[in-house]
Amino acid sequence: PAALARAESLIALTPDFPTPGVLFRDVGPMLTDADALADVMQALAAPFEGAFDLVAGVEARGFLFAGALAASARTGLLPIRKAGKTPRPTASVDYALEYGTATIEAAGDLTGRRVLLVDDVLATGGTLVAAAALIEQLGGEVAGVAVVLELVALSGRRRVPSAHAVFTA
Ligand code: 5GP
Repeated sequence: PAALARAESLIALTPDFPTPGVLFRDVGPMLTDADALADVMQALAAPFEGAFDLVAGVEARGFLFAGALAASARTGLLPIRKAGKTPRPTASVDYALEYGTATIEAAGDLTGRRVLLVDDVLATGGTLVAAAALIEQLGGEVAGVAVVLELVALSGRRRVPSAHAVFTA
């Protein structure tokens, strides 16, 4: 559809960010454009209508899309944070990065909750696999995984086969 093609054209390519050799895809311009944001949010949520009652987003850009989606779907919102930012975390998951490891944390009891997990980009998939494990540690059920952009060359889909991606690159 033309509306989504226009939104896609706003994803900016930045070579050598955050480190040399990485071609970073910046969704910032998509966020500041009213039509692009609305069109992308609609496409992000469409496959999951009625299937979730909570949206979880991964720090930091995932927060933005998860928040917008939760508001339009009238659900709650769970921020999944990097280590050390949650006063009383009730779940914690360590995962491997390209260099080193990272930890994500969250608090709360998600028993009986159907959670739609949202991030901006699916790269290697490590972050979303860890986030899904975190939701399950909290007692929730992962009802779906949705990303704005899938970086196909990084093969994240092998680890998150059910992910819904609005755009691929
Ligand atoms: P992973 O490799 O775990 O799938 O991705 C790690 C994290 O880095 C994800 O939260 C993802 O949003 C972010 N990320 C990786 N590559 C890019 C990129 O090119 N652009 C943006 N905006 N985020 C990225």
